Amino acid sequence: MNLFLKIGGAIVALVLLGGCSSSGPFVSQGKVRISTSFFPLEYFARQVAGDHAEVVSVIPNGLDPHDFDPTPKRLSAAYSGQLFIYSGANLEPWADRIRPELESKGIRVLKMSEHVDLLSGTTGQPTQDMNQADPHIWLDPVLAQRQVELIRDALISIDPAQADDYREHAAIFLDKLKTLDADFKSGLSSCMDHTVILSHAAFQYLAHRYGFQMLSISGLSPEQEPAPKDFVQLVDQAKKLGPRYIFFEKRSNPKLAETLASEINGETLDMYHIDGGFTPEEAANPNLYLDQMRLNLNQLRIALQCL
Ligand SMILES: [Zn+2]
Repeated sequence: MNLFLKIGGAIVALVLLGGCSSSGPFVSQGKVRISTSFFPLEYFARQVAGDHAEVVSVIPNGLDPHDFDPTPKRLSAAYSGQLFIYSGANLEPWADRIRPELESKGIRVLKMSEHVDLLSGTTGQPTQDMNQADPHIWLDPVLAQRQVELIRDALISIDPAQADDYREHAAIFLDKLKTLDADFKSGLSSCMDHTVILSHAAFQYLAHRYGFQMLSISGLSPEQEPAPKDFVQLVDQAKKLGPRYIFFEKRSNPKLAETLASEINGETLDMYHIDGGFTPEEAANPNLYLDQMRLNLNQLRIALQCL
């Protein structure tokens, strides 16, 4: 036990010494350390940072970010970097709580929802009310570009020596996101239907950008369940508007989506949240986000009967 403590102490001392000797207290082996709240931000940060940073997430890949309550051990990841990135709009209320402390320790904090125009998850109208806002701001190729630019600029100011690389990495990924946006525009430009129903409100930014309407069964979080009278109302609305497909997430309980689908004589379709649940191989795929978004595009083209 004693020996353990001694070795542990020596390791801590070495880490502290090693850290302090280079360009800042957090830089290890010349790499910037970035912590993110959850997978999509980790993925965006990796695209921009390339080999120049280590990126860790507080919410483990595979767990639903909605209503996630990190243990102190998980939370310590947020304190481990020079830059902490989170999405906001009430997706990670714990991050709002630790933000002042992070900033007082000199950790730079980037809250993405402060930099985009938020839309209500239910009405699709602009909103400042965080209890109403759709938090899925990563599921939009244009808002994703904004987030990549913000990560690029933060990294340049933290690690100016690698500024050219950050600019280059970001430019490559931004080009791919622009192509994705163009594909959504053309893919959804002439469709017979204009309404989709989702198990939980996640496509409001896509709906707003590409001109369709979104209804949701369970609101902003997959754990929320509709009141029976709201569900009956949704069935009526769906029968009137005529969509044939109900989107649902594999991870969430498909029962309500299946019930609704049978009520309207329709079918269910998978939707992709891209918020985690990937194998290490999938997570390492640089085109993961683009591939998953194209799956969503294909499903939307089926649901909206696009030509
Ligand atoms: Zn969600």
